[in-house]
Amino acid sequence: MDYSVIAEAYSRIEETRKRLEMTEILVELFSKVKDDSDLLRRIVYLTQGQLSPDYQSMVLGVANKLALKAISRGSGVSPETIENWWIETGDLGFVAERAMANKTQTSLFSEPLTVNRVFDSLMNMAMKEGSGSQKTKQDIFANLFHDSSPHEAKYIARMLSGKLRLGIADMTIIDALAQTFGTEKERVEIAYNKYPALGQIAYVLSEKGLDGLDEIKIDPGVPLKAMLCERLSSLPDIIDKLGKCSFEYKYDGLRIQAHIWSDPRVGQVVELYTRQLENVTAQFPDVIEVLKASFNKTEGILDGECVPIDINTGQMLPFQEVSHRRGRKTELAKAIEDYPVSVFFFDCLFLNEEELINLPYTTRREKLASCLDISDRVFISHSLITDDPDKAEDFFQQSLSDGCEGIIAKSISDDSPYKAGSRGWQWVKFKRDYKSELDDTVDLAIIGGFAGRGRRAGTYGALLMATYNHETDTFESVTKLGSGFNDEMLASFSSMLDEHKVKKIPVRVESKMIPDYWFEPVVVMEVKGAEITLSPIHTCGLDEIRKGNGLAIRFPRFIGMREDKGPEDATTTEEMVSLYNLQLKRLE
Ligand code: ATP
Repeated sequence: MDYSVIAEAYSRIEETRKRLEMTEILVELFSKVKDDSDLLRRIVYLTQGQLSPDYQSMVLGVANKLALKAISRGSGVSPETIENWWIETGDLGFVAERAMANKTQTSLFSEPLTVNRVFDSLMNMAMKEGSGSQKTKQDIFANLFHDSSPHEAKYIARMLSGKLRLGIADMTIIDALAQTFGTEKERVEIAYNKYPALGQIAYVLSEKGLDGLDEIKIDPGVPLKAMLCERLSSLPDIIDKLGKCSFEYKYDGLRIQAHIWSDPRVGQVVELYTRQLENVTAQFPDVIEVLKASFNKTEGILDGECVPIDINTGQMLPFQEVSHRRGRKTELAKAIEDYPVSVFFFDCLFLNEEELINLPYTTRREKLASCLDISDRVFISHSLITDDPDKAEDFFQQSLSDGCEGIIAKSISDDSPYKAGSRGWQWVKFKRDYKSELDDTVDLAIIGGFAGRGRRAGTYGALLMATYNHETDTFESVTKLGSGFNDEMLASFSSMLDEHKVKKIPVRVESKMIPDYWFEPVVVMEVKGAEITLSPIHTCGLDEIRKGNGLAIRFPRFIGMREDKGPEDATTTEEMVSLYNLQLKRLE
């Protein structure tokens, strides 16, 4: 298939803001190749702006300098002109498109630009490392440009910069695949939550049809989407909802999914993934070591929380301390020494070839206990099974004094599977903050910025923040955040946000308020407010409580970054509505 076919689909997608239309365009595209499993797999990844699933962290983003040189070589437009266009627009896609429209260089030797050629070239480029690789990358890239139309060049350049920005969420691709193969999107979503590799799911659908979906199994080395909690504001309410249940400490750390398996070439392998499916194995060599010693079976997938501890007191520290692990090698060594971590496992999803996610909670806990030898760094989460609110309250108080942020109640009924990727009532959290005015902090995605004045001139004075609406797959404005930032934080705004700046309101953003700058929703911040109010200017939960009104957070304060969260992990609109209702209930 010619690359022009997908470039054409992408430009139609860019012209619409309607998710239904985007889905239709994708269905049309996927249907053309639904019987060619390998091509379909590649097209799905390209449409995600990737070459492989997220968790394989195959980074495409090449340095702008290299890309600009290749655009110049491929088009024959002078490096100075290309540089000027880049300074003017800051958009590689635009520069490439314009350069190819003004192409001065043609040669007799041109190869057809097929999807496979583009994919293979990009893959080739992503794999090149070491000395001389820059030159080879530039050659591959210049060749591609040479044979592409302005339109095609635009999307290839955006792929290279790691920012395709079609505004297509995974859910839209899931929906399109479901329609292409004639099933409900929920069925594809279940497979995706267990095995979040959309290209691979498309491949299986093409090879084996719908039955293939049921054969998709979880696999050590492929992280699953994490199961999440609902919240309630009183322990008796929780017991009413779940009956007798298991209360567990809610540790305040970094969610870690540990995958352990045996590789004949290298022996036992341990890999750690965050909730964002990011592979963070390299940041926790100490955890790998203790886990190898504690795990007494051959293969498994364990879910837990990694918590920094004070080396002097053994007490748990605020979870932000884990971020020291993100530094360079020498900083990492220091962080391991200064901020050691413990891991508290709370679930076991796979053990020695057996998939456990559909077994009840209590059975999974037994399996968890059977595969770990507890040490001073590896623990099983503290738990108590009861239906007595007083005992639950004592357990909650104990969790706080042990340094946790609350407790999580988990269903122990026969029907209590591990629901990958879902936020449901099987797990319900109860936190200390629920006793303050606004029940909890919320995690919001940044969608806009307002130019700063006075001391903040030259940076952003306030940020427009949004919740995530899971139903509509959009980000809805909920507050303008301007306080709680220290000078260091303010100074880092540009480097943190400029790369996400876009000219128009992003496709998935719903906002009546118009900021000075729009940002693609990528960065998530934790925010604490005084109260949730109705608001005619914000779009969060618009019309849900009162016609023409959305919800807004009053007196918001920045609490911290949520680097562990992606935009779709931000507090949902649904949660905001229930927080508002909880607040009303308390006032009654
Ligand atoms: P919060 O901001 O309150 O931590 P969240 O949005 O990150 O919430 P939730 O699903 O609401 O995520 O809460 C579950 C989180 O609590 C998990 O993602 C995990 O990181 C953490 N956690 C700590 N202890 C446990 C436990 N015993 N069982 C399950 N999750 C736990």
